[in-house]
Amino acid sequence: MPAKAEKKLEDLFYETLRDVYYAERKLLKALPKLAKGAESPDLTAAFEKHRDETEGHVERLQQVFEIVGKRAQGKTCPAIDGIVEEGEEIMEDFKSSPALDAGLISAAQAAEHYEITRYGTLKRWAQELGMTDAVKLLDQTLAEEKKTDEALTKLAETAANQRAKAA
Ligand code: FE
Ligand code: FE
Repeated sequence: MPAKAEKKLEDLFYETLRDVYYAERKLLKALPKLAKGAESPDLTAAFEKHRDETEGHVERLQQVFEIVGKRAQGKTCPAIDGIVEEGEEIMEDFKSSPALDAGLISAAQAAEHYEITRYGTLKRWAQELGMTDAVKLLDQTLAEEKKTDEALTKLAETAANQRAKAA
């Protein structure tokens, strides 16, 4: 790690890559719990599908680490730790309640939005740094995160929110 005064965009890029690498691996462990916790089979299926996609996200990040020629090593991300912790809290506090799925969706969307902001930034920085292949990889994952977020919104609006409101 160079002295502070010498740190540049590529250093920022690498540190942020490590952050999201940690986040993806954390989510790889959290998503099966969400899938198991959900009441609706559709929501379980959505979480399982995204768990599988998340394996791909980890692999793409490993490819980006290779492109920058550095070791794939995560760096603790307190933001995703907090988001996952809040999700666990909802799972516990709303267990067997009609509002459970709406709560799980909201927790998962917090994670997706975190990933979207990280991948959006990384993609932009990769463009600035002229790393065409990294841009492609980051953009593929970004698209899957956005699609997942939209699918969760749909599940909330078509079912979970209604169930949560019904007495
Ligand atoms: Fe992801
Ligand atoms: Fe995701």
